[in-house]
Amino acid sequence: MTSADFSQLGLVGCGGAGFPTHVKLAARNVDAVIVNAAECEPLLHKDKEIMKHCSEDFFKGLIKALDVTGAKTGYIGMKKKYADLLSWLSKNIPDKRIKMLPLGDFYPAGDEYELVYEATGKLIPHGGIPLNIGCVVINVETLLNIGRNAPVVSKFLTIAGQVPHPCTIEVPIGITVREAMAFGGLKKLDGLRIIDGGPMMGKLIADPDKDIVSKTCGGLIALPENHVLIRKMSNGDKKNSRIARSACDQCTDCSELCPRALLGYPIRPHKAMRTAQFAPYAESDYAVDSVFCSECGLCSLFSCPEDLPPREICMIAKKFHLGNGVKLAEFKGEPAVHPMRSVRRVSIERLIKKLALLDYDHKAPLQQITQRFEKVTLPLKMHIGAPAMPVIKAGDKVSVGQLIAAMPEGKLGASLHASISGKIASVTDQAIVIVRE
Ligand code: SF4
Ligand code: SF4
Repeated sequence: MTSADFSQLGLVGCGGAGFPTHVKLAARNVDAVIVNAAECEPLLHKDKEIMKHCSEDFFKGLIKALDVTGAKTGYIGMKKKYADLLSWLSKNIPDKRIKMLPLGDFYPAGDEYELVYEATGKLIPHGGIPLNIGCVVINVETLLNIGRNAPVVSKFLTIAGQVPHPCTIEVPIGITVREAMAFGGLKKLDGLRIIDGGPMMGKLIADPDKDIVSKTCGGLIALPENHVLIRKMSNGDKKNSRIARSACDQCTDCSELCPRALLGYPIRPHKAMRTAQFAPYAESDYAVDSVFCSECGLCSLFSCPEDLPPREICMIAKKFHLGNGVKLAEFKGEPAVHPMRSVRRVSIERLIKKLALLDYDHKAPLQQITQRFEKVTLPLKMHIGAPAMPVIKAGDKVSVGQLIAAMPEGKLGASLHASISGKIASVTDQAIVIVRE
């Protein structure tokens, strides 16, 4: 199988922004494929559940990724604390190119800059990608999908937070958030808000009856609407800018604990905060190093003793500077790891306490789903690049796995397949709706 064949399956990175996988696997001269199995966002467990219950297809996918890229080594980057699973996987590795890469229990161990450094001891150059140092980083579920060698029609996700039965489920792409939350035992969502993704980098769901489980959703977390995380996530840019001007005493804690700064990249979030206090971004290039921010959230949700939003201010500055043509590759020098990195990293245990999530820190075992879903809404763009182009029309009958939208010729993107069998109820420039007959 070639990387071009992967493009027919609608594969995208299953945890982040949805980068089309066939593009990643078109890489050559690769030394290492690194599996991001760190799963360092608190409360999420779907990668571990996949490796526990679907290891055969996961390993098949990893072997295909090694074959197609020609990589000599495949590292599975996984936390040491999951000792039983780590040891079981080690004993069942089916190919001598594959090695386990035990990781410390830190946040954000799954950041690709961190992972490639842990695997190879090398740092991605300014403005570069893992391939610049011979690495391809790939997600657990993406490898599972490669191993299954079938169109992507379902999604694994963890249902967690204030739910009676935290669990991991595999459901058709396009069901509503409300339908997914019901598997955690939540019949009503009154007084709760739902986070799409992890507590550190996830986004608030606007409407659980309209928002859907997409190709990139790794978890849904229900929290009381007055929980500190929900309050912080609800603040918009205006409010965050106002808060930023109010109380920053320039203690520099945010910069001293910033994971990207500890790897040696030139980011100093306290300077972005200083800029927010004194000058509008449009008139200043002072916080230009914010372009190196990974948006991990550690500064806003853990480091700042004043509960201020340096991440959000860095994001505003980053958007402004990237929009004005600033290029990371033009920054002088090379990253060099900070000598204090090993003692300044933040453990997940401390993070969970600080985030007030101790009451919700439970296992989420895989639950088999037998329910038939009556309707799915499939957005044409669940990936980076151009939206997929519908190849069906309203009224057509489709079966599960059938191609319903294709990648536009010569454009970056991912194709889309029916996640249930039924009739096409509507086709718009945003989404295709399928109802079961
Ligand atoms: S944002 Fe918070 S951590 Fe950063 S310098 Fe200001 S007070 Fe200190
Ligand atoms: S969000 Fe904060 S801690 Fe994370 S990379 Fe950006 S500035 Fe650093």
